[in-house]
Amino acid sequence: MFIQKCKNCSKEFSWKSVLKSVWIEGYSKSIKCDHCNTKHYINMTSRIFIAILIGLPIMPMIKHIPTNTLLYALLIIITYILVLILTTPFIARYHVKK
Ligand SMILES: [Zn+2]
Repeated sequence: MFIQKCKNCSKEFSWKSVLKSVWIEGYSKSIKCDHCNTKHYINMTSRIFIAILIGLPIMPMIKHIPTNTLLYALLIIITYILVLILTTPFIARYHVKK
C-alpha cells in the first residue's frame, strides 16, 4: 500500500491532504498537487471500496449485538471507523481529468 503520487510530477501526496480530501472536503472536490498544481479527482472504484469497507462489517454487527454488550460493541465500531479513516490515504486512488 502506498499513498497516491501526482500523475504529472510523481510527487507523493501528503497523508494529511488525502485524508482531508476524502473526509472533510468530500468526494466531488479535487485534490491539488502542491508541487505542480495538477488537479486530481478520486476514482469511483476507491469511493465504492471505502463505502463498502465502512458499511459491510458494521451492518451485521449492529443487527446482532446483544443489548448487554452494546457499549463494548460501540467501542469496537468506533475504533474500526477511526482505523479505517486513518488508512484511507493508502486506499484512495486518484485520476486527472483531461
Ligand atoms: Zn505534481
